[in-house]
Amino acid sequence: MIIPGMASDSQVYLNGEFMQIGEAKISVLDRGFIFGDGIYEVVPVYNGKPFRIAHHLDRLDRSLAAIRIANPHDRAGWLALIGQLIERSPSPICMVYLQVTRGVAKRDHGFPKEPIAPTVFGMVNAMVPPGKAQREQGLSVISLPDERWLHCEIKSVSLLGNVLAKQAATDAGVDDVVMFRDGYLSEGSSSNVWVVIGGKLLAPPKNNLILEGIRYGLMGELAEQIGLPFEARKLSKQEVLAADEIMVTSATKEVLPVVRIDGRPVGSGKPGPVYARLRERYDALIASL
Ligand code: PMP
Repeated sequence: MIIPGMASDSQVYLNGEFMQIGEAKISVLDRGFIFGDGIYEVVPVYNGKPFRIAHHLDRLDRSLAAIRIANPHDRAGWLALIGQLIERSPSPICMVYLQVTRGVAKRDHGFPKEPIAPTVFGMVNAMVPPGKAQREQGLSVISLPDERWLHCEIKSVSLLGNVLAKQAATDAGVDDVVMFRDGYLSEGSSSNVWVVIGGKLLAPPKNNLILEGIRYGLMGELAEQIGLPFEARKLSKQEVLAADEIMVTSATKEVLPVVRIDGRPVGSGKPGPVYARLRERYDALIASL
């Protein structure tokens, strides 16, 4: 089977075995396929070393617990699997994708009465970290109402709201969206959003309205290292539109500046000084791996 954009010799993991991607098959009754009943993780890897792996595996635990799937592996099991995926990576800079669904059962919304084995899937893809152009030119975004459900803290594979938001950005000819729920900042389609106002770094509070990115905690640590005040609080759309700087973070974007929102420049319209300092720290951390 040819999968557009994927090398046919890519090795993936499915339920205990490694195989070529075209050979990996799940049942049409997998609850991940039928209901989006599953969760996932994306771990960035630099020089063959997974970045902040303990944080990612903690979040995987939290996501599984939130949807009441027993964790199919202990910590050592996940680490071994991640190591085996990295060995199969086309590049030492890559991202490991892990997904667990409730498993295969007769289609019925409620959980299966008899215990079933979860479906465990893993793959690894080369990752291209943001290059000079993206770092220097920054991103353009549009604002969008956040129309997702009220459990955005779960890293669920039910991503239709995020998919439609990202497509709205593509349709508008911009890089991404920044979403607002009831007039307050939530997040991007697959990133956390940060603003700088009056020399202070601000982000929406960690709650059920956003996914707590692994870089959420990291940005707080980096801010502390450089003596940058940080506060998590509700941020109105007016505040965000008038912010001195806006940034986004994710495993693959790392940290990137947003220079335009809804067609208007953010601050000077160029990547700002706070971004530059945080970016420098992020790069230093990766280089130290
Ligand atoms: N929010 C959403 C909705 C995301 O999909 C992501 C990317 N996983 C993030 C935030 C950022 O999380 P992380 O820093 O762990 O990549």
